[in-house]
Amino acid sequence: MKIETQSIHVGLPAARPGEPVLSPLVPASSFYAHPDAGFSANDLSDAAPHFYTRWSNPTLAALEARLAALDGGEAALAFASGMSAVTGLFLNRLKAGDHLLLSNVCYAGVAEFAHDALPRLGISATAVDSSDLAKVAAAIRPETRLVHIETPANPVLRLSDISAIAGIAHAAGAELSVDSTMATPVATRPLDLGADFVVHSLTKYACGHGDALGGAVIGPAAAIADLRKTSLIHLGAALSPFAAWLILRGLETLPIRMKAHEDNARAVTAFLETHPRVRRVYWPGAASHPQHELAVRQMRNFSGMVSFVPDDGPALARQFADRLKTVAYAVSLGKTRGLLFYIPTGDLIASSFRLEGEDAAAYRDIAGDGVFRLSVGIENADDIIADLAQALG
Ligand SMILES: *Cc1c(COP(=O)(O)O)cnc(C)c1O
Repeated sequence: MKIETQSIHVGLPAARPGEPVLSPLVPASSFYAHPDAGFSANDLSDAAPHFYTRWSNPTLAALEARLAALDGGEAALAFASGMSAVTGLFLNRLKAGDHLLLSNVCYAGVAEFAHDALPRLGISATAVDSSDLAKVAAAIRPETRLVHIETPANPVLRLSDISAIAGIAHAAGAELSVDSTMATPVATRPLDLGADFVVHSLTKYACGHGDALGGAVIGPAAAIADLRKTSLIHLGAALSPFAAWLILRGLETLPIRMKAHEDNARAVTAFLETHPRVRRVYWPGAASHPQHELAVRQMRNFSGMVSFVPDDGPALARQFADRLKTVAYAVSLGKTRGLLFYIPTGDLIASSFRLEGEDAAAYRDIAGDGVFRLSVGIENADDIIADLAQALG
């Protein structure tokens, strides 16, 4: 099956008379148990597949089957949010004494968790410019067990070369996890390129309608089974069946939505590149993107995220918040409707990324004093551009 078919068909109930033609929403928190079932995380069995929804649930299982197929993995695990997927994976793969090597540009919450929470557990974390392979290789330590990258990365859409970094990580005995939220499986399948785990915030493009939070990790079946035990059964980061059901419905249109997001992002990029108030525009599909060659190699779709550096960010942010009508001045991304938000560089460097010296200067070279992160919606491109034009004034 091709991805447009998988995104609609995988996880559906068997085609028998009387069965529903979609994955049913099963909100039950518990299921009739086998009389011999124990009451421990180690007692899951195929005979009684569902026991308690923090362990597993039919609606969640349908979502997990579809996510595993889309990313070409053996198994998937759904989480309550993208953050719980990332933190669950870190806590599962790393123990005291281990080292996490993290991309120095990534989702702010992930950077903060790595810098603040992991050291308290005896896990060291250091950040590196993952767009520079020599720097990645040099930053690996004997105790590095996990390398985590995000591509394209929040908020400047910097890319990382997945297959090259998988090679570096594996040569050092470490695993690679890739946050592929912005690429989605429509653009990139990190497991095919050698990654061990893919992570998504399902809240974004996967759901697509801005009405559910969710996250997922996709990887080898044995590792996912262990992750189910530590992250869901013990830490309790289970996704609500209703959110899973909304995300299943959202996934049906993921491939056609990504085409529309990409087409509109191309048009919006062309508009922004010629606007006098805009200094720089980043979209992986544009020839002007500093890693366009890697984007062409690694992405089948360039996604709908466009970041731009203005002349006067704070003033323009106020103007956008006052004047935008089609685009909403709001956080998040990957929704049908366009969303725009200003991310000041100083705050991000100091409180989230903790960059200093040369690394801070390199980030400032890309991001200036701040970037607008625009999640281009799937409204008509002319309406989106007209709205941006009137708001830029
Ligand atoms: C939003 C996001 C997250 C966090 O996901 P939530 O669902 O908000 O917890 C992680 N990584 C990336 C790239 C994101 O965009």
